[in-house]
Amino acid sequence: MVNAISILGCTGSIGRQTAAVAEHTGIRVAALTANRKIDLLEQQARKFKPEFVAVYDEEAAKAFKLAVADTDIRVGSGMEGLIEAATLDSADCVVTAVSGAVGLKPTLAAIDAKKRIALANKETLVCAGELVMARAKEKGAEIVPVDSEHSAIFQCLMGRGEGELHKILLTGSGGPFRGRSRATLEDITPAQAVAHPNWSMGAKISVDSSTLMNKGLEFIEAMHLFSVTPDDITVVIHPQSVIHSMVELVDGTVIAQLGVPDMGLPIQLALSYPDRCASQFEHLDFWKLRDLSFEEPDLVNFPCLALAMDCARRGGTAPCVMSAANEVAVHKFLRGELGYNRIYDAARGAVETIPRQPADDLDVILAADTAARAYVNEHF
Ligand code: MG
Repeated sequence: MVNAISILGCTGSIGRQTAAVAEHTGIRVAALTANRKIDLLEQQARKFKPEFVAVYDEEAAKAFKLAVADTDIRVGSGMEGLIEAATLDSADCVVTAVSGAVGLKPTLAAIDAKKRIALANKETLVCAGELVMARAKEKGAEIVPVDSEHSAIFQCLMGRGEGELHKILLTGSGGPFRGRSRATLEDITPAQAVAHPNWSMGAKISVDSSTLMNKGLEFIEAMHLFSVTPDDITVVIHPQSVIHSMVELVDGTVIAQLGVPDMGLPIQLALSYPDRCASQFEHLDFWKLRDLSFEEPDLVNFPCLALAMDCARRGGTAPCVMSAANEVAVHKFLRGELGYNRIYDAARGAVETIPRQPADDLDVILAADTAARAYVNEHF
C-alpha cells in the first residue's frame, strides 16, 4: 500500500475517483494539480489539506492562490508546478490522471524520482511508450496501470513466469453505437456520443469509446506496458463490460479478470498493489448478471480502431500523431464544429500527412504532437 499520493489532474473523472479512494482507504494526499477548475480544486484542497497544489493555467493559479491565502498550502503553476507535484519528496506514488500530452514531462520526472506511477494518462504510453518504459526500467520505477483493461491484464499476469503468455485478449464494450453502420453515424450529436452504456467517464474518452479510438489507444498502450507485439493482442468486443480483459497462456488456458464496471476498483488496486484491501464498491452478483457475450470488432464501420492498430505497427511518432489529431478533432466535435465521422478523417489525414520519425526523443515526440494539432486546426 502506498503512503501518500500526488494526483495530477484531480478535477477530472479519474482524479475525483482517486480522491474518493484516498478518502476511503486513508491514503494521504500530498499534492493536487488541476488545469483551471479552481472551484472544485479549492474544495478538494480544503478537504485533503495537501502540502502543495499546482494550477497549470497561470491566471487560474493566481486566483487559486488568493482563494487559499488563509491556508498554508503552497501553490505552483504551469509545467514547473506539475513537475514539482510529480516529484514531491513526501509522495511515494503519482496518479497521472491529466488528459493529453501535458502529462508526458511530469510522468518522466516522477519516474526519474523513482515514484510509483499509477498510470491513467493515455498519451504517456501512446506517444512515448518506448521512452517511458525504458526509463522506468532503468530507474526501477513501478508503473501500475489504472485503466480497467490494463489493470485486468496486469492482474491476470501477476505471478506468471516468463514465456507463459501467449496472447492478450483486450476486451471492449463496443460503445453506444455497436452494430450500426458508419453511414448512419453521420449526424451523431455530442450528447449521443458521450452517453456510454456501462462506464461513467469524461466527455473526451466517452467519444473515443464510441468511435473505438479508445480501444485503439488501449491496444497501443498494452503493447508497451506488457512488451508484446501487435500480433500478440486480440480485441474482443464484450458488450456487458463485466470481463475487463483476459490473457491466454501458452497451454490454451485463459485467465480473465471480472468485476463491476467501476473505475474506483482499478484505481484502488494501483494504490494498494501488491496488497488488496476491502473496498466500498459493489461486488459482482452472478445471479443478476445477464449473459456474457463476445463478438469480433467491426473495423469497417469503426475505422478508428483499424487506424490505431495500423499506427501500432508503423510505430515511431505515428501513434502520437494519430492521438493528438484525434484529440483536437474530438474537441471540435464536442464544440459542434466538426461532424462525427470527420473525427476519423482528421486522425487518418494527420497520420498520412505528417512524416513519421523514431519516437525515442521527447522533443521529437512533442513536435509531432504539435504538428498533428496544427494539421487538424488548419484542415478541419
Ligand atoms: Mg479502458
